[in-house]
Amino acid sequence: MAKTLFKSAKFQEVHKAILKDGAALFVDKQGNESLIIDSPYHIQYIHSYAEDTPFFLGLADGKLRGTKCPACQYVFATPRGNCQFCGDATVWVDLPLKGRVHTWTTCHFGGEAFLKETPYNLAMIEFDGANSVLLARLKDCKEEDIYVGMPVEARFAKEATYSITDVWFVPAHEAGKGHPKK
Ligand SMILES: [Zn+2]
Repeated sequence: MAKTLFKSAKFQEVHKAILKDGAALFVDKQGNESLIIDSPYHIQYIHSYAEDTPFFLGLADGKLRGTKCPACQYVFATPRGNCQFCGDATVWVDLPLKGRVHTWTTCHFGGEAFLKETPYNLAMIEFDGANSVLLARLKDCKEEDIYVGMPVEARFAKEATYSITDVWFVPAHEAGKGHPKK
């Protein structure tokens, strides 16, 4: 007879129990139970950013870089080596460090790099002068305080890890621009 598994609707409690006991049950809002187990593995993943390299070097330098299609002028906030519309090779452009929330979600589960932060907010950020959005974490605000169009600004890791976690956004406190709900 197996021992009774810890069960909770709070993922952080479930996470603690998994680390202690090796398994636990997470209950979602509909009451469904998910068995979650601890199965550690380690891989050393040496990989190339290839043509995305300037984006990651930019983050280490406190810059957000997108790409622009010289043919149709489309600006990708999530850089692409070639334009998705006309196929032309793009060129690198600096994006503003301030933008707005296009849409967002709150994650109660995440990949290894984000597990310690759960629940955390992920937002699509739109920028003046860019035609597409960038997916990044939104910190220093509560889920209930986030809204579409909220001004945000970029923050960068002091010690670059050359990964997407080197950048996140926080609310930008612009003078004269209050919360529309208040
Ligand atoms: Zn194009």
